[in-house]
Amino acid sequence: MPQRTFSIVKPDAIRAGHAGAVLAELDKAGFRIVAIKKQSISKAQAEGFYYVHRERPFFAALTDFMSSGPLVLMVLEKENAIADLRKLMGATNPANAEEGTIRKKFATSIQENAIHGSDAEETAAFEIGYWFAGYELI
Ligand code: GDP
Repeated sequence: MPQRTFSIVKPDAIRAGHAGAVLAELDKAGFRIVAIKKQSISKAQAEGFYYVHRERPFFAALTDFMSSGPLVLMVLEKENAIADLRKLMGATNPANAEEGTIRKKFATSIQENAIHGSDAEETAAFEIGYWFAGYELI
C-alpha cells in the first residue's frame, strides 16, 4: 500500500535556485507528487505548523525563517514514503548528513536545511491537513 507524506522545499533552497534540483531528487527516488503549490506563509501560519516546537529555543528564529520567502508545499506518495523521505533528506544538521542526501547537497545550516519531511504517520496526517484541502488531494 502506498503511503503519503508531507514535504516542504524551504525558503533557503528556493532562494538559492535549488527548487527544481530538490524536486528532481524526489522524482529519482520514486516519489509521486500528489499535490504541490508554491506559497509564501505568514509568521502565524509557520507558528501553527511548528506548534510542537513552541517551547524550543529556536522557535522564533525557525518561524521567522519559514515565513521569510516562498515555499514549495507537497504531498508525496510511495511505498514507505515517510521513512524513505527522512532517509533521503539526511540529518537535521547538514554537518551530520550522509553523502547523497538532499541536506548534504543543499542545506547550509541546522536551521536553513532545504527540506522538511513528516517524521511519523500522525504528523503526516496533521501536516497534510494543515496545508491542503481534501479536494486538492485527488
Ligand atoms: P527535522 O525533523 O529534521 O526537520 O528536525 P526537527 O523536527 O528537530 O526541527 C524542525 C526544524 O527546526 C529543522 O528542520 C530546522 O529547520 C529547525 N531546527 C532544528 N534544530 C534547530 C536548532 O538547534 N537551531 C535552529 N536554529 N533551528 C533548528
